Amino acid sequence: MAKVALSALFAAAIVIAVILTVMAWQRRRDSAGFTAIAAIAGGAAWWSLATTVPLFSRNPTVVLVADLILYPGVFLVVCGWYGTARALTNRFWKLDRRTALLLAIEPVLCTIAIVTNPWHHLFISGMKTTIIDGALAALFGPLFWVHTVYCYVIVVYSSVVVFRTYTRQTSRYRGYLVAVIAIFPASVINIIGILAGGRLIDLTACGFALSAPTMYWVVRHSTPSIAPVVHREVFQNMNDPVVVLDPAHRLVEANPAATELVARLGVDNQEVALHLAALMGRLPANTVSDYAILDAYGSGLDFNVRVSPLRDRRGTHSGSILVAHDITEQNRQTEQLRAQLATIEALRASLAEQAARDYLTGLYNRRHLMTELGGALERGATFSFVLLDIDFFKQINDRYGHNTGDDVLVHLAGRLVAALQPGDMAARYGGEEFALILHGMSGLEAAAWVDNLRHAVASDPVPVDGVPIAVTFSAGVATSDGHRYPVNLIDHADQALYAAKANGRNRVEQATLAAAQ
Ligand code: GH3
Ligand code: MG
Ligand code: MG
Repeated sequence: MAKVALSALFAAAIVIAVILTVMAWQRRRDSAGFTAIAAIAGGAAWWSLATTVPLFSRNPTVVLVADLILYPGVFLVVCGWYGTARALTNRFWKLDRRTALLLAIEPVLCTIAIVTNPWHHLFISGMKTTIIDGALAALFGPLFWVHTVYCYVIVVYSSVVVFRTYTRQTSRYRGYLVAVIAIFPASVINIIGILAGGRLIDLTACGFALSAPTMYWVVRHSTPSIAPVVHREVFQNMNDPVVVLDPAHRLVEANPAATELVARLGVDNQEVALHLAALMGRLPANTVSDYAILDAYGSGLDFNVRVSPLRDRRGTHSGSILVAHDITEQNRQTEQLRAQLATIEALRASLAEQAARDYLTGLYNRRHLMTELGGALERGATFSFVLLDIDFFKQINDRYGHNTGDDVLVHLAGRLVAALQPGDMAARYGGEEFALILHGMSGLEAAAWVDNLRHAVASDPVPVDGVPIAVTFSAGVATSDGHRYPVNLIDHADQALYAAKANGRNRVEQATLAAAQ
């Protein structure tokens, strides 16, 4: 009687497990969780089948062999639960090579122990008659216990992983709790069977077979099937034109943005692929490049185009995806920014120039002169420095008016600049005082040069409003030799100028060596 009931139970378990194995295996591409469920269900079916043997055979050898060959089923169930736990925790989890190798270590060692059992009897030590119709059951050796502890460590670890995922989830999807609970009955049956010490037929496999549908249900509900729909929506609503091409550059698919772009380019819809592929220069896969093209109205469009290779499940090239990102506006703004930067730079340069100039004469101002002098002395340049002051300028102002005085200043400034060598410099030092930097000239040469200029100015009155105004100046010349600081050099030249004034004006004096010290 018990035998019939047990046979029926096992038959039901095997049928259910086989159906679940097939169902889960068919969905293996949706999530690694389904592969794991297929492993649990397949393992449970195999394990159940092997467990039924003692019900039909009293031959100890047959029963022993059946007991030994059920272990692949055990491994599949244990590893399947581990995989289910990982897949429930992370929907994109995949069994990697390292984990697979680690998981395989124990089954390999266990298989070696089982195959060699007839010699050492450390896995199954003997047979015992059960209370169920005298069917035989195995008595376990120490290696069996090692194996069992190992399996329980994995089962408990995986259950903890799922339970922790459940508690950490904000949505608290109950399926996770159900999955953990579903593993319990089979484990309890297993422990009872083991503790019965060979008096009962092991029903663990039935327990797992019957919990497989629950597991399948949990995995199915935790694997959103809306992903493809979402992908489709994203593809359709993307602003960037996306085109899928087959290896021969024929169009497989184009999103509305791509169709719109092609319409804008004035190309027949059918030729999208060819046209885009030609436009983008038959791009090799894995490239990102910028392209400028003209639309049907002749306005330029800029695109950043990314081409990614498409590979099928076996890894063979099955086409490419072309994503074009419109960067026309971005480029226009960059161009605008560049133009603005150029304007700002020009303004800055003009401001800097203005800050260095004297507004009346246009010559460099005193501040710029000081900078230049400082730089030249620091470089150790050889030059002469001249201070030049108009004689009795106050009288010109008094006689002809301040405006005429200004005109005279401007006129003299022009004459100074015209007389200069390239690289030399004229500055307005003060009211009617000017300064010159004459590069490469000794004091004597500079004095002679300035005296020539003095003579030319003195003998050529300045015409203001048709009135010739006689203008003369006095000058003091100093050389850069022995000077480190601009103030000393200026002071030196000023003393020479003072001497020129004192000696009767309209003349040039050279600073004496004594004055330099
Ligand atoms: P000296 O020969 O001793 O140099 O006699 P001076 O009259 O030239 O010298 P002084 O220092 O007595 O007078 C300089 C005059 O230059 C006084 C001032 O009004 C005039 N002045 C200074 N800056 C300007 C200016 O920008 N424009 C005009 N028109 N006159 C100016
Ligand atoms: Mg003066
Ligand atoms: Mg003067």
